[in-house]
Formats: sequence, C-alpha cells, structure tokens
Amino acid sequence: MNQPQPGSQTAPLSAEVARPVFIECDNLVKIYKVADLEVVALQGLDLLVREGEMMALVGPSGSGKSTLMNILGGLDFPTAGRVRVGDYNLLELTRRDQVRYRRFMVGFVWQQTARNLLPYLTALENVELPMALAGLPARERRARAADLLERVGLADRMKHRPDRLSGGEQQRVAIAVAMANRPRLLLADEPTGEVDNQSAEQIFHTLRALNADFNVTIIIVTHDMTVSTRVDRVVGMRDGRTSTEILRRREGDIAVHEEEYAILDRAGRLQLPEAYIEALDLEDRVRLHLYEDHIGVWPEHAHRNGDREGQE
Ligand code: ADP
Repeated sequence: MNQPQPGSQTAPLSAEVARPVFIECDNLVKIYKVADLEVVALQGLDLLVREGEMMALVGPSGSGKSTLMNILGGLDFPTAGRVRVGDYNLLELTRRDQVRYRRFMVGFVWQQTARNLLPYLTALENVELPMALAGLPARERRARAADLLERVGLADRMKHRPDRLSGGEQQRVAIAVAMANRPRLLLADEPTGEVDNQSAEQIFHTLRALNADFNVTIIIVTHDMTVSTRVDRVVGMRDGRTSTEILRRREGDIAVHEEEYAILDRAGRLQLPEAYIEALDLEDRVRLHLYEDHIGVWPEHAHRNGDREGQE
C-alpha cells in the first residue's frame, strides 16, 4: 500500500470522527424462533456508522450480515438492544413510522437482480414507481428518474425493459430505484454477486459517485474483496457481532493508507483475529499485562514470571 506523501491533500483518518453518528447499534440481539429452536443471529452487536460513510460488511455465511441489513432496512425487528438510524429508533417504530422509514429513509439493492425490478416496466418506469407511491407529481418524478438514470450511466437505456439489459445494467437501474426517494441510507446486499468483474467495477463506481453527490450513507454486504478494498471502512462480522475493522484513507477511488482495528465493545470485550489465536495457540485463558501505552497478551502458560517484561 502506498504511504501518503508529505503535503498530500488527503484528510487524516481522524477526519471521519468529525461527522455526526448516523447509525448506532448498541448491544443488538436478534433471536429467530423456529419451532422449538432458538437461533441467535445477532448476539450483542455494537456498530457506529457516521453520516456519509461508505462501508462494506464482510464475514462468513451465517455471521448475521443479512439479519443486520434487514433490521437497518426496517424489514425486521431486533429482539433486544438499541438501534437508531437518524432520528428513528428502530425498536419502537409505529406502523406508520415504519412505512415512512422504508419509503424515505432507506433504499435497498438486492443481489438477485430479479428482486429489484418489475419485469414489465421500463428502466424509467421502474425508477419512477417509488416516487409515484410517495405521491410525487408526474413531471417531477420523470425528471428525477431521468437524472438518476444518467448518473448511473444508463441515459441511453431508459426505455428498455429489464430483460433487454445486462445483469450489471439491471443492478445500476436497481441502484437508481433505491435512490428514487432520496434516502439517507443505501443498503446493498451482495450487489456485485451475480455480475462479471467489469460490471462490478461500474456498480462500485456508481455507488461511490452517489455517495459523493448525495452524501448518502452506504453499507455494502460483500464477499468481493475488490469492492471491500475500495470503501472507506470494512467491518468484519463473526458470530453475530462485529469483530474487526479496516479503515482506509483515500484519494478519489484509490486507497492510500489503511489500518486494521479490533472492536472493543461497551462491556470491554475484544475479539482477537482468528489468525492471531492460531499463531500463538491461544486457548481458554490468556495472560494480560498493561504497559504505559499498550496491552500485552500471552498464552496462559508462557513466561509466567514477567521475564519478557516490556516485550510482546
Ligand atoms: P449471513 O447473512 O451473514 O449469512 P444471516 O443473517 O443470514 O447471516 O444468518 C445468521 C443466523 O441466523 C444463521 O444461523 C441463520 O441460519 C439464522 N437465520 C437467518 N434468518 C433466519 C430466519 N428467518 N429464521 C431462522 N433463522 C434465521
């Protein structure tokens, strides 16, 4: 990774901190009940996302990514904990607030292209539909839909139905649909999962441009490491919790510096990366020592007498 040059124009990582917190998940728990079984999909998840961030959520299958996205999208409710998006407390949404939240606050792009678009409507009509449901006058919605389709690079495909568009183009129409009512949050669940590399690149560029133009906060669930290297922040999930974070500083589309962090939750718990646990054969208990400016962690039986004081 290139190191930033002296005098370069990039903002320091700490500039992120100045933006207001937009999403706040605090000890979020989601339990699914299936017959007599309980599945704990989220077990005390903590996450802060700042206004205008573009972040990726990664993690093994079953780690709770979709569950979190569904909760943030107002499609499902948590079992316990706290979750706030803007002024909405998602634990206490009235039916009316839920409709308003889903219509104006959040847009969704799904992996399955067919789920995003109505097959018998043109691209333009698909983008207009959410605005029609929101009661926007016809002229205004036509103009806004055309503008959005231009922004996603499909000015010449407006009159096409989905079956005449490539998978990547359909996903870009879906992004325009998701942005139709100017949401403050855009959620994309594996948006590049079913398209080739070049289309994935275009989808990524489109999301980045919308993020810059509208300051819309974007969360992308992805396995695609090329996408996750091109967002501001990658949050790793494991067992229903956030476990690691990579923060990036960028110049335009190019990441110029990155740092990896583990997440310390409010109860003081820290999840060590699997690779570290394996490298030192850590099990059950570890020894901790507090130094002036850092903490050392040792396998339980190693160096009991502080014979490595000052090292780790
Ligand atoms: P990911 O998106 O990371 O693959 P999910 O959020 O889909 O993870 O799933 C997390 C856990 O919750 C898994 O164990 C999954 O089987 C379970 N789960 C997800 N949705 C449901 C559901 N509707 N009913 C029962 N269990 C579910």
